[in-house]
Amino acid sequence: MTIGNLSSKIRQMPSTNSVVMVSLLPIPIKNRNIPQKGLDEQRQTNPEVRNEVLRRLLQPLTLKDNPSAESGYYNVLCADGNFRRCKPVLAAWLADCPEYSHLHHLERHVCFWCECPKNELGDYVPPDKQHPRRDHNQYRTLSDANTKAANAELSSHHVHQGFNVFRHIPCIVSDLPKPDLLHTMQIGMLDHLHKWIFDVMKTHERLDKYNAIWLSVPAYHDLTPKNKSYEEVSQGNGKEMEEMSRYLLGVVTQSLRGGSPAQRPIFNRAIECTRALLDFYMYARYKSHDDATLSYMEDA
Ligand SMILES: [Zn+2]
Repeated sequence: MTIGNLSSKIRQMPSTNSVVMVSLLPIPIKNRNIPQKGLDEQRQTNPEVRNEVLRRLLQPLTLKDNPSAESGYYNVLCADGNFRRCKPVLAAWLADCPEYSHLHHLERHVCFWCECPKNELGDYVPPDKQHPRRDHNQYRTLSDANTKAANAELSSHHVHQGFNVFRHIPCIVSDLPKPDLLHTMQIGMLDHLHKWIFDVMKTHERLDKYNAIWLSVPAYHDLTPKNKSYEEVSQGNGKEMEEMSRYLLGVVTQSLRGGSPAQRPIFNRAIECTRALLDFYMYARYKSHDDATLSYMEDA
């Protein structure tokens, strides 16, 4: 366990005790040469163990132990040597999409935030037609009921049956801040934007131009020289996405110059959309935020 705002110099020095061991996860050795039955059993046991470890870790924060806002306070010895009355709450969570599914007891390839059907993932949804958000209270009730109808209802929401500690914590887990630019923005939204632009270029027969401009971006400052077009890069990593964010808007704007009167509004919207997301990303990278920077992000 650690806190996020420590400099890497302090964080990486074991003598500073900046990282405290809370528990050891019993991770079994991956042995592919055991019979299928054993593998299946292991596959079933792993989530149970993970769930149990999390249950014990997060027990003090659960509804049962923390029924009202008044309780749940502890005298905590702080770094300056003074005791303070503190109330620990789950405030942020770092995980990748498949890990979120595991943590929330969801099937694979579903949204952990809303009940969007699997085949509509990534589609644009107008603000007034948003899918209902996941109701972990309802899942808890259904899971506790453990009847045939309740289990069928859970399955219809792509939720696994059984205890899950996140359904017992007084917060909306999917709304917790995810202070993780790599997964949320770089290989999340920026990667999505990149694929989307690629489709726009392909539809409007601008792909050759796009690739040519992409490859001609010079290696100035600390940019890596480019020898591969977008098509040849199978999956961008965080660093590539970070670099790309610095010149993508220029490349898109140049690639979408001209065009017929019917194409122009589409091109303008594509450029506007790229600019908005890149603006948001640039602000999201600030080391600290105030009301002004947050409003810039809203405006972006
Ligand atoms: Zn969703």
